[in-house]
Amino acid sequence: ETFCQKLPKIELHAHLNGSLSKSTLKQLGCSEESIKNYQETLTDIKQVFNQFQVAHNATNTLENLNLATKCVIEDFAKDNVIYLELRTTPRSEKDLSERDYIETVVEAIRNYESSKIIVKLILSLDRRRSWKEQLDTLDNIIDLKQKYPDLIKGVDLSGDPGKGEFFKKLFEKARDNGLKTAIHCGEIKNDNEVMDILDFKPDRIGHGTCLHPDYGGSEEIWQKYQHLKIPIECCLTSNVVCLTSKSYEEHHVKELLKNSLPFSLATDDKGVFNTTLSKEFTVLGQTFSLSKNDLWNISRNSIDYSFADEEEKGFIRFALEQWKIRNI
Ligand code: 5GP
Repeated sequence: ETFCQKLPKIELHAHLNGSLSKSTLKQLGCSEESIKNYQETLTDIKQVFNQFQVAHNATNTLENLNLATKCVIEDFAKDNVIYLELRTTPRSEKDLSERDYIETVVEAIRNYESSKIIVKLILSLDRRRSWKEQLDTLDNIIDLKQKYPDLIKGVDLSGDPGKGEFFKKLFEKARDNGLKTAIHCGEIKNDNEVMDILDFKPDRIGHGTCLHPDYGGSEEIWQKYQHLKIPIECCLTSNVVCLTSKSYEEHHVKELLKNSLPFSLATDDKGVFNTTLSKEFTVLGQTFSLSKNDLWNISRNSIDYSFADEEEKGFIRFALEQWKIRNI
């Protein structure tokens, strides 16, 4: 095992239906052909959203959704992820309501007994859906948060960034109801929307690609962002595969490192992009010549940005400190 594999890691940005491994897809009954489509490497930010359909077709029953959730948690645990915030978009299927969908994922997490990993759930609103549809989903989330307050932690906004919009009022409602917010922001250039999202001040930002002027943002946006210092969930391989970053060297994490701005490393969709969190740490370390201690610090800082409660944060910090004494 390499250093990055052994390092206890914190994963804050993983979409359930993008995180299915080949063996999980096989267990769910997918054909070789559809598995190939799921991991199609010749993709970009416009095409990639079709690839999730493979997983959506495979997780459309209670049993399969339960199995998929369990397998994904198991994969992260094997990669020494000790704290995982899994996110997924509630959807209704033939024999499954949106509430059933959420409760199935919650049950799978609760039944995953392991002292190795703590798992929390973030629920996603799909920006391609209408205001009314997103509001209905949010109301289900708020309701179920009362039932599972130690598990359902936040709300995310995701889906094709070329479609739909950010409804600030919905996220204000989420926040007023005790939910944390993590919002995909600036994956493609859209200065007005980025400004709206920054004005809202989410707890975390997904990707944050087009914030710095070298990466398509305006001076005004970058100034504002530097002032707010909202932690960014960086998904290097995802951005390189989707062509929103030119290369690992030219990834916007470079600006975050240079200016000591807060970020965590994440896989986004480890199945679709064929990656692991260890790989993301390895690539970052090699690309920017980081030391073992630098990488440990990234893991350590991610705890602060997580949606865990203070007691849990203390516990995870302690685990990392102990590991450091023995390994660095
Ligand atoms: P699910 O929410 O169904 O568990 O996971 C797949 C969904 O996550 C996709 O259909 C899409 O809405 C969202 N998603 C996954 N990766 C990305 C990404 O890189 N950017 C955005 N905006 N959405 C994503």
